[in-house]
Amino acid sequence: MNPRTRSSQLYEQALEHIVGGVNSPSRSFKAVGGGAPVFMANAKGAHFTDVDGNKYIDYLAAYGPIITGHAHPHITEAITKAAQNGILYGTPTELEIQLAMMLKDSIPSLDKVRFVNSGTEAVMSTIRVARAYTKRNKIIKFAGCYHGHSDLVLVAAGSGPSTLGIPDSAGIPTSIAQEVITVPFNNLEALREALEHWSDQIAAVMVEPIVGNFGMVMPAPGFLEGLCKLAHDYGALVIYDEVITAFRFHYGSSQTYAGLDNHDQIMPDLTALGKIIGGGLPIGAYGGRKHIMEQVAPLGPAYQAGTMAGNPASVASGIACLEVLQGEGVYEEMERLAIRLTDGLRESADRHGVAMTINRIRGAFSTHFCDHPVTDYDQAQDTDGEKFAAFFRHMLDRGVCLAPSKYEAWFLTTAHVDADIDQTLQAADEALKLVAA
Ligand code: PLP
Repeated sequence: MNPRTRSSQLYEQALEHIVGGVNSPSRSFKAVGGGAPVFMANAKGAHFTDVDGNKYIDYLAAYGPIITGHAHPHITEAITKAAQNGILYGTPTELEIQLAMMLKDSIPSLDKVRFVNSGTEAVMSTIRVARAYTKRNKIIKFAGCYHGHSDLVLVAAGSGPSTLGIPDSAGIPTSIAQEVITVPFNNLEALREALEHWSDQIAAVMVEPIVGNFGMVMPAPGFLEGLCKLAHDYGALVIYDEVITAFRFHYGSSQTYAGLDNHDQIMPDLTALGKIIGGGLPIGAYGGRKHIMEQVAPLGPAYQAGTMAGNPASVASGIACLEVLQGEGVYEEMERLAIRLTDGLRESADRHGVAMTINRIRGAFSTHFCDHPVTDYDQAQDTDGEKFAAFFRHMLDRGVCLAPSKYEAWFLTTAHVDADIDQTLQAADEALKLVAA
């Protein structure tokens, strides 16, 4: 491995011009001991090359969207064609309908969708629609679930904000934070109490149906069924934030995921999407039942718009990505590799006496340095961040790129192969030995 001299130089330069040297706080190394993040020069398949010529196996997958690996030829071709045809029209296009139909075909609760530019926008818009529809103001969310950086949902949020120890962001008026009630994930009694307390003021209960932001955490059996029933009993809508989860575990969303039961009882009213559905280009989408979505302008009184929304390049890239994911056995293969990887990690951790809990859901998993299960945010916080930081750095030095946060997942892509797993396990064994020392 070459010294990361050029990365350090670029970081110094970036610090002069870009706030904190990064364009998203989760990219900084603040949560893993600080210093220069690695500046990547290019990426192909499951591999990065940094500006110093070092190679890495990528499990970051750009925080989720790059499920087909980098520069997938089918996606690259779609984007190139879109660029040649003109990248932004400000008019409707046929491709938007195609992507909307692909989403509707695979996510049954979507009667109507609207494209936006990010997961944050998608979530923000679902909240506006829910408020317009119910004529209520408050929302309930779950501790540690991250729903983007808009004011209302950046309250007791996980992911980046909790990693940095910022439970609330400055700049959010208390009057707005007071519109949000946060309850523990997997805790129906707490949800019931909140609904009872604020009964006719709750517009929506918002949840990551399968959590991806304080590790990968499955809902407990009956949790989503209970959540939907309770919310509806109190006249609130259910919003699923599937920005990470849609198309991650199977071709569809949590609403139809085989790992969850009673699909007809876990249907949300509104769903927020992003990440994978853009194949790596900026995108978000939200949708739901026709009579609820008809609140949205130009049909209804809830205004939501976007100059870049539904742009041909993002839409073409999203269609191409979903086409790749329709391929025979792609999810099974990601899962097979993830099982190999998690089995090997567990063996190494045991051999070196390092306590580690692994939560795996098909081709995605999280590693928690602790000896207890992780099923809610408190448990995810109660894990050894220093050990994670050391592990992260030893892995990086051995050519394995993870997200620089103990809360983030490892993502397999369709581009990973057995040789990547072998190399990763070798690196992990050495790293865990050092962590244990
Ligand atoms: N919702 C979830 C579940 C997310 O994980 C994220 C981002 O990580 C968002 C929303 C925000 O999406 P974006 O970063 O595209 O604004």
